[in-house]
Amino acid sequence: MDLASLTGAYGVSGFEDDVRRRVLDAVGSASVDDFGNVIVGGRSSVAFVAHMDEVGLLVTSIEEDGRLKFRKVGGVDDRILPGAAVTLYGDGFRIEGVIGVAPPHFQQQQQTSWQDLYIDIGAASRQEAESLGVTPMTPAAFSRRYAEMGRFVSATAIDDRAGCWALLEAYRRGADATFLWTVQEEVGLMGARALASRSNVKNAVIVDTTACCHPNFTGNVKPGQGPIVRIFDNYGAYNNKLAKKVLEVARRRGIPVQIGAGGGGTDAAAFFVSGVPAIAIGILTKYSHSPVEMVHKDDLKYAVELMVALAEELR
Ligand SMILES: [Zn+2]
Repeated sequence: MDLASLTGAYGVSGFEDDVRRRVLDAVGSASVDDFGNVIVGGRSSVAFVAHMDEVGLLVTSIEEDGRLKFRKVGGVDDRILPGAAVTLYGDGFRIEGVIGVAPPHFQQQQQTSWQDLYIDIGAASRQEAESLGVTPMTPAAFSRRYAEMGRFVSATAIDDRAGCWALLEAYRRGADATFLWTVQEEVGLMGARALASRSNVKNAVIVDTTACCHPNFTGNVKPGQGPIVRIFDNYGAYNNKLAKKVLEVARRRGIPVQIGAGGGGTDAAAFFVSGVPAIAIGILTKYSHSPVEMVHKDDLKYAVELMVALAEELR
């Protein structure tokens, strides 16, 4: 499964079926819990974790004139909404939409809040919108795009399809570990919380993107110089013993990694509050939570090499 196919899947938090289907297709045999997390067991004491969901929007009501009111799902900046192309999706349908913006010809106010915006799907009435399959609770994801630009890939939902891809790639290379693809990370680590309290995971290594880069938050880390071992973020400090072990393995095997910190949080927090040592490997991502997220190809490659090494060493 390549990154293009994974970033092409729709997966607004709570509506990850399309991503889950692609993960299940790639691994062949796996179990899915009641929450929607995907689980593949292995013999090593390490569990690799990546989240399948992405930030997006959710239709909340349909106006008489066919326009759709929505709410945000996860951390979406209001500034990127006006002019965005979105895709509404559900069982058996895909509908293109746009978040309209008043043209400069007759613009009066500059600042727009998401609460003043609508999704326009070209329907002229509520009945027409409903006849297409749209109802309140229909998710809308940023319309898919994938582009290779120099050594970078820019695509929708790289957070965290990059991690989902890295897990699939480590699995394909025969890493004998537990693999967990979680749901609803962007709305409070919900899938991981459900898993962490019930699983017998010994060490959790979360593979997620890390918003790049700000000297105060991340430290002086750079895309292309290896994934970061995330030592701190808004959920606290990461387990030191495990972090040291990961750094030691990387150094000994000559796999480039950087030491950094993150804003926000990762599924690691769900594991360490359940008493499971956890760390996060962060793939530095420019323009996080926008439709043009960018990662460096070398960081993807080194993340997979590190995972394969950890599966061997954390037995
Ligand atoms: Zn993420």
